[in-house]
Amino acid sequence: MLVPLFTYDLSGSTVLRLSMSSPRSSPTLCSYSTVNAKDAKTIILISVLCCGCRGSPDLVILIAMTNSLQIDTVSVQFAGLRALDAVSLTLQRGEIVGLIGPNGSGKTTLINAITGYVPLTNGQIYVSGRRISGLPPHRIAHHGIRRTFQTIRLFKQLTTLENVEAAAVAAGQSRRAASKLAHATLERLALSDRARQTAESLPYGEQRRLEIARALVTAPPFLLLDEPAAGLNESESDSLLNILIGIVRADGCGLLIIDHDMRLIMRLCDRLHVLNYGRTIAEGDPASVRANPDVIAAYLGGRR
Ligand code: ADP
Ligand code: MG
Repeated sequence: MLVPLFTYDLSGSTVLRLSMSSPRSSPTLCSYSTVNAKDAKTIILISVLCCGCRGSPDLVILIAMTNSLQIDTVSVQFAGLRALDAVSLTLQRGEIVGLIGPNGSGKTTLINAITGYVPLTNGQIYVSGRRISGLPPHRIAHHGIRRTFQTIRLFKQLTTLENVEAAAVAAGQSRRAASKLAHATLERLALSDRARQTAESLPYGEQRRLEIARALVTAPPFLLLDEPAAGLNESESDSLLNILIGIVRADGCGLLIIDHDMRLIMRLCDRLHVLNYGRTIAEGDPASVRANPDVIAAYLGGRR
């Protein structure tokens, strides 16, 4: 017997197929696949084969996981300059994608476009199939997308703790909840010892981590980091690497990271997306991108 359970907009989402050998056993993950439907209106009926059907060897449950961030042929034009030219990229929850390329290639512009800081000339951006392009930044943030900026933006005179609390309150948390979340987030970013110090008194590397704490405090499904390792030394970059891996593993968020620190990027990322003059010149796993002659010529030549 097939029992319709609920409907869900699955465009670009990950579908998990769970199976049980008998109705009373625990479900185990047997496979997953991605629904590639680009049409935001795609609705897939999720059904559950009824648990009561004894003797059915193949009890299968489909679960929709929200979700993915889809950038679909996005272009951004600044007067005479095409900063992004038909860039497409999908970020799933739980994966880490590195956005790399030479200075001026459009990396920051892509994060600005996703988060509503610059208007798109062409293309669309979706979260779980819902269009977010055209919305103002605060509404895009409510769709679970948080970012940091290439240049540090903190309330310098406020304490480390107050900076994170303010981000949580701005995201709609009560003061009480914000305080609790802020303490927990500082712990995750190894900043608890600095809670009562003003932001401006922190060493540079810790200010960078504080920015991430502010973006992370409400456990967003998608985190976009613009050069978080810029100016960090090797050991600070290593500890950032471990912190970021821990965050993605624990929260299952999708992480899009821009950085020139190839030591960090190559060890951290599942996939890389390479821009040059606003265009995608390569995408794929780190090893194949590193070996790509176009990427070596445009960017990696002097950095490997
Ligand atoms: P990246 O982050 O890869 O270094 P950016 O996205 O900052 O590159 O910039 C891409 C190109 O767009 C550059 O040529 C830059 O000068 C230009 N640009 C970025 N933002 C603006 C803007 N707001 N107005 C005009 N030009 C811009
Ligand atoms: Mg930039």
